[in-house]
Amino acid sequence: MDKYLEPAKEIDVFGEYDVIIVGGGVAGLTAAIACGRNKVRTLLVERFGFLGGTATASLMNNINGFRNQVKPDGLQTVKGIPQEIILELNKINGLGKSPYPQEDYDIKKGELSYSYCFDPEKFKYITLKLVHDADVDILFHSYFSDCIMEGDIIKGIIVENKSGRIAIYSKIIVDASGDGDVAARAGAPFWQADPNDKALKDGLMYKISGLGKSKSSIFECRYGDSSVLWGPYSVWGQNDAWLISKAEIKTRLKVFKHFSRYLKRNPHLKDLGVHISETPPMLGIRQTRFIEGEYKLTAEDAIEGRRFGDVIAISSAPIIHYYGYRRYLEHEGYDIPYRCLIPKKIENLLIAGRCISSEQEPYESHRSMAPIMAIGQAAGTAAALSVIHKSKPRELDISLLQRTLIEQGVELRKNI
Ligand SMILES: Cc1cc2nc3c(=O)[nH]c(=O)nc-3n(C[C@H](O)[C@H](O)[C@H](O)COP(=O)(O)OP(=O)(O)OC[C@H]3O[C@@H](n4cnc5c(N)ncnc54)[C@H](O)[C@@H]3O)c2cc1C
Repeated sequence: MDKYLEPAKEIDVFGEYDVIIVGGGVAGLTAAIACGRNKVRTLLVERFGFLGGTATASLMNNINGFRNQVKPDGLQTVKGIPQEIILELNKINGLGKSPYPQEDYDIKKGELSYSYCFDPEKFKYITLKLVHDADVDILFHSYFSDCIMEGDIIKGIIVENKSGRIAIYSKIIVDASGDGDVAARAGAPFWQADPNDKALKDGLMYKISGLGKSKSSIFECRYGDSSVLWGPYSVWGQNDAWLISKAEIKTRLKVFKHFSRYLKRNPHLKDLGVHISETPPMLGIRQTRFIEGEYKLTAEDAIEGRRFGDVIAISSAPIIHYYGYRRYLEHEGYDIPYRCLIPKKIENLLIAGRCISSEQEPYESHRSMAPIMAIGQAAGTAAALSVIHKSKPRELDISLLQRTLIEQGVELRKNI
């Protein structure tokens, strides 16, 4: 590829924060709420004009993993802020029934089932309100593009938006971009799964409306008189702009054909005028970079239900694809260690979300949105405590972090 030497230029410094979180997907928004509530000056940077990432921008409105889908499912492994979001959604009639077979738990008693569908507009509203109420500054329509480095420390980030190219300084950065954009730019080591091997493919979800009270016979996320369908699949997008564009084009050109097959299986819906009412702004991207951390979760950790001294979240969701079938866990959940959120090499960075340090098999479990949000809460809390105690994230007192998480409603299977 030809190279162009970009001339150096002065840019405006937008401000200085204790913590900047890049990415307002489910991991980033939960991290932001946790950070703001722990009373440090927090900025959330997001490229879209709303929160949720894959959950809203890709219409993935089915949140899995509050407990094991099958027995033993007695322990609700994800509580804290993710549970609060579900209870708030329930109050405004924002939940639908998940298509996944599961035991029903009593939400009126505050007990959550394995999985829920939700109305994406209500999800946008509730999550924005919670982030806003936590006194977090939100910079929408802003694309993280680079890091300001001093050795192995990120002094700040560079963002592109309507104001131009701006710099923002921060003591700690949380990379919740899903793709590990910040970590990669900072020079942290990472890997990507082989698209021709077992990596999960991308998929275009889409919404249909006009269903009324009618029944259909397909796997879908119903809320009100609308449903979201798992739409066409594509080649794996990675982090290459051309490949992502090709994947968008391929899936979008297939969407009406996909819907006509759905109508063939549900001919009674034709007369009701059921139609595609929305394709999302973005193709659903399942996996790209994984950032190498102080520990990499292994298949055995997940399958054997391993416990770790530095647990910060628990996942009990099944491994969905790796073994060629949905492999349910035969225990109540495995621990996610704090070290998976600490990238190698970079000192003041935490990773939240789908790109934490993990092999493919456990990733296919903790990628579910409930555990991803629990990881987000841990990352946000760790960032805030690192600022308050003037500690590097990798040197943070783990028992202080765990005590704080438990006091703030998180399930860690530990007594304090
Ligand atoms: C098709 C599909 C089906 C799925 N099915 C399910 C399911 O049924 N149940 C379930 O629980 N999970 C499901 N998942 C998985 C789950 O949705 C994801 O693992 C989870 O949402 C990832 O959250 P995240 O916050 O880590 O990342 P993301 O959702 O990717 O969020 C990243 C955020 O960062 C922003 N961002 C990225 N780069 C930049 C940048 N450079 N500058 C500024 N902002 C940036 C993005 O706009 C986004 O808001 C599915 C995923 C897909 C794609």
